[in-house]
Amino acid sequence: MTDLLSRATGILQNVFGYPAFRGQQAGIVETLASGGDALVLMPTGGGKSLCYQIPALLREGVGVVISPLIALMQDQVAALQEAGVRAAFLNSTLDWREAQVIERRARAGELDLLYLAPERLVTERGLALLDDLRIALFAIDEAHCVSQWGHDFRQEYLQLGLIADRYPGVPRIALTATADAATRRDILERLKLGGARQFVQSFDRPNIRYRIAAKDNPRRQLLRYIREEHAGQSGIVYCLSRKSVEETAQMLVDNGIDALAYHAGFTASEREQRQTRFIDEEGVVMVATIAFGMGIDKPDVRFVAHLDLPKSVEGYYQETGRAGRDGEPAEAWMVYGLADVVQQRRLIEQSEADDTYKRISGAKLDAMLGLCETVRCRRQYLLDYFGEQGAPCGNCDNCLSPPDQFDGTEAAQQLLSTIYRCEKASGYAFGAQHIIDVLRGERSEKVIQRGHDAVSTFGLGAGMTEAQWRAVLRQLITLRLVAVDHDNWNVLRLAEASREVLRGERRLTLRREAASPPGGRRARRGKAPPAPQVPASPAEEVVFQALREWRRGVAKEHGVPAYTVLHDASLREIAQRLPDNAVALGGISGVGATKLARYGTSIVDVVKAASSG
Ligand code: ADP
Ligand code: ZN
Repeated sequence: MTDLLSRATGILQNVFGYPAFRGQQAGIVETLASGGDALVLMPTGGGKSLCYQIPALLREGVGVVISPLIALMQDQVAALQEAGVRAAFLNSTLDWREAQVIERRARAGELDLLYLAPERLVTERGLALLDDLRIALFAIDEAHCVSQWGHDFRQEYLQLGLIADRYPGVPRIALTATADAATRRDILERLKLGGARQFVQSFDRPNIRYRIAAKDNPRRQLLRYIREEHAGQSGIVYCLSRKSVEETAQMLVDNGIDALAYHAGFTASEREQRQTRFIDEEGVVMVATIAFGMGIDKPDVRFVAHLDLPKSVEGYYQETGRAGRDGEPAEAWMVYGLADVVQQRRLIEQSEADDTYKRISGAKLDAMLGLCETVRCRRQYLLDYFGEQGAPCGNCDNCLSPPDQFDGTEAAQQLLSTIYRCEKASGYAFGAQHIIDVLRGERSEKVIQRGHDAVSTFGLGAGMTEAQWRAVLRQLITLRLVAVDHDNWNVLRLAEASREVLRGERRLTLRREAASPPGGRRARRGKAPPAPQVPASPAEEVVFQALREWRRGVAKEHGVPAYTVLHDASLREIAQRLPDNAVALGGISGVGATKLARYGTSIVDVVKAASSG
């Protein structure tokens, strides 16, 4: 080990309390600490922050971190201060006097890390401050904001190239969790990082279990899922519309779950208040539109649930990536159904956008639908989408209980000819419910009125449940073998490619829907590992809960989020190992020197009291 790396490891262990670097952290830290530039692509939760925090502590002067996300900045600074690092931020939440105090401390060399909003850096006052400082390094977080290709373009980021000219010789690192090749090129060019070493880490998130089930009664499915598998845990539930966010949150609250609603219709202060509660407290479920989540750095989110289909795999991956940042088991859970497919296709078709955009959006949606319908390993499918190879994960729903497939050619033919015959009989087309009624031989009022009980396919599909027929139809729509007329009550029509199936020229393998509605039980069957979070013994649980209670008190007293005091993973390790002195406690992951000095005695006391009681 080089001398530099052993000093870096010393800081990792003493200040942050972690035994070893993860992934490419060591290489990045070494590059930066020895004066080089770096571009880092790492998935959310990969551990980007330490990549610049440790070099900043190794080098002389203050590390300047540019971050666009105010909430994130504040939480990071709070966490650093908890670890005994001299950190501060300058952003719009400070008044003039508070900002002056921070600036004075920076000039006096009393800071190891200074977080700055980008718009602040490029002002005269910002640059004048930087001119006076000895700067250890610049870290540019969320670097994809510099690119118009990305989805979070920010004008202020374009000016950050000036850092290279104004402060030559100061090492710079740009970090992001989302960057395709075009975005990466933009980052290198606009931030003038041509000579930077690139560190691209796998996007795999092995601790996340992906589960996608058929939608039946989504709110009831969600309630059961939370109750049976994630009671008392933090989670995020994504819904498409504000109305559905509010109704879902209310339903959860009515059923005794600590849930909050969040969408862009709330005032800024309401949103901030809700976000703070979610982050600071444990076990809050946030029901939100996708307006929520950018920059949410809560490590112990145990599940991310989708009640509506995301528009793209990128969106899905970013949203589900907010689960399990602490590396502990977490879940991405989604229910989706026929209506999702129809609705998302309609949103694209009816949008004002040009044809190119519609084509790209349509292709992205198809990839997302492919993820839902695949019988392969979900993780493999996801990684493949991002250009990575991998073996089946053994941890997603498809790996744990492989879905049945069947030759769906005949079912598809029956469905297609029912669509055709009903339209022919009446002179106009019908929607999904009616077609399925005819297939299953239901004598509904509409079937009788239209005389469709005389159609030759009437009752041919009685052997399959309504849910199973919906699944077949959903797959045919996904495959574009059935067209949905969005301008006419979503009635169904044959598509160009339908003929091949009707004529028997094309055979179809379809995913079979379970006859009973899927839920937690089905996915837990078989060789699934035990549900996360449940400690091995009741005695351990008692200690764990006592430690959480203690942590709640400390967090409240210091006015910081609970996880900045100590992560759940650390508390669980303590509850398992029951350290009875400071040395033993220091061996726990996440307990650094400062935390040991600050909390060592009281933690040992809590452990003693709880384990003897
Ligand atoms: P990112 O910014 O890439 O999303 P963070 O820097 O917030 O990720 O790190 C995610 C989590 O992983 C944090 O809780 C952090 O403390 C933890 N972590 C980072 N590096 C290590 C390490 N080497 N060992 C153990 N935990 C780590
Ligand atoms: Zn898998």
